[in-house]
Amino acid sequence: VPKLMAGKRGLVMGVANERSIAWGIAQALHAADAEMAFTYQGAAFGKRVLPMVQKLDAKIVQEADVESEESLDALFARLEKEWGRLDFVVHAIAFSDKEELKGRYVDTTKANFQRSLTISCYSFTEIARRALPLMTDGGSLITLTYEGATRVMPSYNVMGVAKAALEASVRYLAADLGPQGVRVNAISAGPMRTLAGAVIGSSRYVYRLSREASPLRRNMELSDIGGSALYYLSDLSAGVTGTVHYVDGGYHAMGMPPAGATGQ
Ligand code: NAD
Repeated sequence: VPKLMAGKRGLVMGVANERSIAWGIAQALHAADAEMAFTYQGAAFGKRVLPMVQKLDAKIVQEADVESEESLDALFARLEKEWGRLDFVVHAIAFSDKEELKGRYVDTTKANFQRSLTISCYSFTEIARRALPLMTDGGSLITLTYEGATRVMPSYNVMGVAKAALEASVRYLAADLGPQGVRVNAISAGPMRTLAGAVIGSSRYVYRLSREASPLRRNMELSDIGGSALYYLSDLSAGVTGTVHYVDGGYHAMGMPPAGATGQ
């Protein structure tokens, strides 16, 4: 798909390392000739992310923590100054205290609930609001979600509630931004072995059962998510907004696991 993204400029938020979903998406976009700006969270991630994104010819690489309005002010001021416009945004950011991604959802504290929802859901709305004035020629935003938004998944707890709110935000944002030609969609990825994925209790069981019980009988790879992201961020999906698209090997379609699938 060379040239599919030629002339398009976008912001990619959420690369922590080579296993990050945002990194898989960035590689697909790079192969299609997109120009990208990257953010990383804090200096420790920066050390890892800087050499990675330099290989993709990124000129704008900036620290940004979505809990800090000042850091988002600085990021968008820089994008406006150096680019003046934006065609796409990839939001691949989520957080919960890992102690609350085990045990029962009912024990979620208010402090972690608020922080998880702020980082994992509100940040997408805030970034959409800040990106909109730069999307003078239309645009496309995507975020990453998981099926734990709609059905109970082991240990997903407060993240399930955050993802439900995130998926609802996708629909409200699509309605708000559509008249300006800006599209908003979510990719619901099957479980992946990333930094964020690993902190969820029972992740090994979830990973195995998702493989054994999905129609395609495999876990998702970064390139699977990258390919779907490319569709959403390019003009191939020009008529598509407000959707949640499953890239999970078909797991969501199953009413029951096939006989013999145990995840053990
Ligand atoms: P990851 O750990 O590689 O990425 C998560 C990113 O969130 C990191 O880059 C981290 O720095 C960033 N982040 C957290 N708090 C932040 C903050 N306050 N400010 C700025 N950045 C912050 O893991 P991933 O699995 O690639 O996660 C990316 C997205 O994909 C998340 O939204 C996650 O919920 C979603 N997702 C993951 C899976 C999975 O199984 N791994 C499945 C479906 C959806």
